[in-house]
Amino acid sequence: GATLGMLGGGQLGRLFVLAAREAGYRVLVVDPDADSPAGRLADEHICADYDDADALTRLARECAAVTTEFENIPADALRTLARDVAVHPSAEAVATTQDRLREKSFLRGLGLPTAPFAAIHAAADLTEAAGTVGFPAILKRASFGYDGKGQVRVAGPKELAAAFASLGGVTCVLERRIDLVREVSIVLARGERGNTASYPLADNIHRGGILALSSVPAQIDEALSAKAVEMAVRIVEGLDYCGVLAVEFFVARDGALLVNEIAPRPHNSGHFTVDACVSSQFEQQLRALCGLPLGETRLLSPVAMVNLLGDRWQSGAPRWERLYSTPGARLHLYGKREARPGRKMGHFCVLADTVEEAVRRARALDEALSTPA
Ligand code: ATP
Ligand code: MG
Ligand code: MG
Repeated sequence: GATLGMLGGGQLGRLFVLAAREAGYRVLVVDPDADSPAGRLADEHICADYDDADALTRLARECAAVTTEFENIPADALRTLARDVAVHPSAEAVATTQDRLREKSFLRGLGLPTAPFAAIHAAADLTEAAGTVGFPAILKRASFGYDGKGQVRVAGPKELAAAFASLGGVTCVLERRIDLVREVSIVLARGERGNTASYPLADNIHRGGILALSSVPAQIDEALSAKAVEMAVRIVEGLDYCGVLAVEFFVARDGALLVNEIAPRPHNSGHFTVDACVSSQFEQQLRALCGLPLGETRLLSPVAMVNLLGDRWQSGAPRWERLYSTPGARLHLYGKREARPGRKMGHFCVLADTVEEAVRRARALDEALSTPA
């Protein structure tokens, strides 16, 4: 089989490596971490920075195509590679989505609804931004934020200057805090010829800014779900995207569907596709990358997914025997050695006849994994 390149060594890269190897491909992973989840599983791990000239030369020479699992890859590295090898997603799509300001301006340009926001480049912008956005608000750094890191809640204008200083005075977005009734997300793929395939929406519950539980099918009405699909398709078309992309949405108390953010890659809330869909989001990434027809996104069973954070290992290893004795449960661990609090160590899915039953069993198992005998 052909050789593919992956920039990024995290769990999303690891799950891509699994899908690619299953289809007979070799994968080279570039990541500076000598012990990354994807690097450990790759045919070869090139231990280097993402924009290392020698690493990029090797990818260009040896790979049929290169993809990424991480939006913070320097866009220039993708641009350099694209001169010699197929790169999906493109440098332009990644550049747009790695910066919240660029991303939100892009969404606004498409006419898609978001929470009210304003750019903060310097302390001098705070007063005007407070006026346009209103309160309560959230201040988010424009780049390098994930799992709710690099965000501060701001109750009123008096807290704003301190919040900005606490983020280091870097470029930020001030966003109105939305009164949420739920959060949903969609993962979709777009092929080279502009064909799209979307997975069913997931209902997401976050804890401390980190995804805790996703369940599918999402319990929202047909009209809202159709609207989400339509918005997501406009986004991939607007980016002239090739590959897998996720869109996170807020459902506001007044019923409005707002785009929260975009991820130019498979998504944590799409992990259910591995256990519960005909083709997983990672197989889909492979298909789009290699110019193959997109796979079937059909859901085979209602499903709930729970993230396993490092916190759970604090009082000893989880009681895996309880997972293996739960009907419909499947475990995925990422092979990370150090279980730090808040670190995503793995996830599990529970398949059941109804989504309510899947969620009920997943929650019970979640609890039982950390309960002493
Ligand atoms: P990810 O790991 O998904 O990339 P992130 O660090 O980019 O996370 P966001 O998605 O911006 O963070 O926010 C994390 C969570 O915080 C959201 O899923 C939501 O629960 C809450 N949140 C963020 N912005 C808002 C908002 N404007 N109004 C209400 N809740 C919000
Ligand atoms: Mg994000
Ligand atoms: Mg998010």
